[in-house]
Amino acid sequence: VSNKEKREIVREKSAALYEKAKTFFPGGVNSPVRAFKSVYGTPLFIEKGDGCFLWDADGNKFVDFCCSWGPLILGHNHPKVREKVIEVMQNGMSFGAPTALENELAGLIVNNNKYIEKIRFTSSGTEAVMSAIRLARGVTGRDKIIKFEGCYHGHSDSLLVKAGSGLVTFGETSSAGIPKAFANETIVVPLNDREAISEAFKTFESQIAAIIIEPIPANNGLLLQDREYLEFLRNITKENGTLLIFDEVISGFRVGFEGAAGYYDIQPDIVTYGKIIGGGLPVGAYASSSEIMSHISPDGGVYQAGTLSGNPVAMAAGIAQLSELLKSGFYKELNAKTQEFAESIQRYASAKNYKLKVFKIGSIFWISFTDKDKIQSAHDIDAGGMDKFKEMHKELLNRGVYFGPSGYEVGFISSAHNKMELEKVKRTIFEVLDIIF
Ligand code: PLP
Repeated sequence: VSNKEKREIVREKSAALYEKAKTFFPGGVNSPVRAFKSVYGTPLFIEKGDGCFLWDADGNKFVDFCCSWGPLILGHNHPKVREKVIEVMQNGMSFGAPTALENELAGLIVNNNKYIEKIRFTSSGTEAVMSAIRLARGVTGRDKIIKFEGCYHGHSDSLLVKAGSGLVTFGETSSAGIPKAFANETIVVPLNDREAISEAFKTFESQIAAIIIEPIPANNGLLLQDREYLEFLRNITKENGTLLIFDEVISGFRVGFEGAAGYYDIQPDIVTYGKIIGGGLPVGAYASSSEIMSHISPDGGVYQAGTLSGNPVAMAAGIAQLSELLKSGFYKELNAKTQEFAESIQRYASAKNYKLKVFKIGSIFWISFTDKDKIQSAHDIDAGGMDKFKEMHKELLNRGVYFGPSGYEVGFISSAHNKMELEKVKRTIFEVLDIIF
């Protein structure tokens, strides 16, 4: 059958670069998922990005659905972002002193988001979340936090913890090198399970400083929660004097300018941001009410700092990117495009009886090889489907479509993914599905 025609891209230069990289970096990479351990082949080394396209070192061109893992909501190398960064760089890179650019980015964010009053910039999502946890502990004078199995919050010690087998467990660390004592302060519960939360509050009563959740869990598949569940978390935290932290490093500025808080209209106590906020440069942030933020140093007793926090170049990229998002109709168009893309893949797969479901929200989508209509907890994921993902990933790469190298990762669509390219990609996906099923 012509569909089964073998295709293989040339990867010689990437392969050589990977060999060289292995002499410098553990596993040849500076962040583990890049090593292609969950898919076939070895990493592609990227040379250039423009709009919705990527080019690797061998000159292969791809339509990119990884988008640097989420930051690039305008696509690669957007002219407005690039020009603003170059303009600001003419005056120097970093001063370690306040600049007007920090005010400008903060103004864009705070004045267009009714869920926050004050913000503090960091240089990564990990730092933002780590600081938000410290703030919650400082404000409440409590030590324990609740996190959910299947939610990722960066690589700080108390958050690299996953559940054991019970309903409510102290977490097992999911990395070597984390003191047991830290993990003991992290209570891990399954998503979408009210009983587990109630039990945690019964067991630990007034010791819980915060519940932290990705309100749109997108690091272990796309585990969309019901609004009622998030509301339940809002209510039970309020009743117990516990703070509710929304980790919006992915969902912030993605499902709408006000992120998941705005999407569900739920007021968290603290919100964390990353990715999109920096326009492709390293920026994170945490934000809250003026009252809660008054606990941060220098005015308050919760310490947090950063040599490059709020640096002008990163602020410039954030300002340029977020300004585009505030233009009328931006999200409507992007989300509609994503919906159309996801629904056509679903229609094709369903018509052919392929075991596949496309989950989506805003401009995030996740192709899961399952027949379940709803997947709301890590336990419900069809791990068996990951082999199909690996096959799909390989065939798509060989046909010029770049997905993040793991079946647990979601895909992102940017405003640069135009209808014509999405049409072509859809047809390529159909062709690949016919091969792998
Ligand atoms: N929180 C969430 C929800 C994330 O998705 C990530 C990164 O993927 C982080 C925190 C950590 O952010 P960073 O990688 O910028 O440190």
